[in-house]
Amino acid sequence: MLLTKQDQKLIKKAKSLTSEKAIRGGFVKEVGCALITEKGKIFLGVNLDLAGGIGFCAEHTAISQMITKTDETHIKTIVTAKSDQVLSPCGRCRELINLLDSRNIDTEVIIEHNKKVRLEELLPYAWQVTDKSKCKVW
Ligand SMILES: [Zn+2]
Repeated sequence: MLLTKQDQKLIKKAKSLTSEKAIRGGFVKEVGCALITEKGKIFLGVNLDLAGGIGFCAEHTAISQMITKTDETHIKTIVTAKSDQVLSPCGRCRELINLLDSRNIDTEVIIEHNKKVRLEELLPYAWQVTDKSKCKVW
């Protein structure tokens, strides 16, 4: 799929968050993430890459902001980037987006400066949650 002007703005926002910094236990802000919900709200996040496998991806930070500040779980578009590169989300983040909301299988994921795909293309055999008591939106 071709990128829209809004997609290009999301890429710029994600890149603008990056300013890698060494801290006591590792590095932060190597990667930035910007997402826009179906209702049009934008959330941003950065990664924390700390010793011992502690830390999380920028997508987790942006999604945590969305969950903290709204009741929304439906993501329209998401992008992850370093200062000079758009990144495809890791497998854990792909699954996180999927588990938030069944509609997110259609989330647009920007994977290159000029390319986006639906999450379904990145996660063709997505995990199907069967215990609905733990997943009330399904
Ligand atoms: Zn990730």
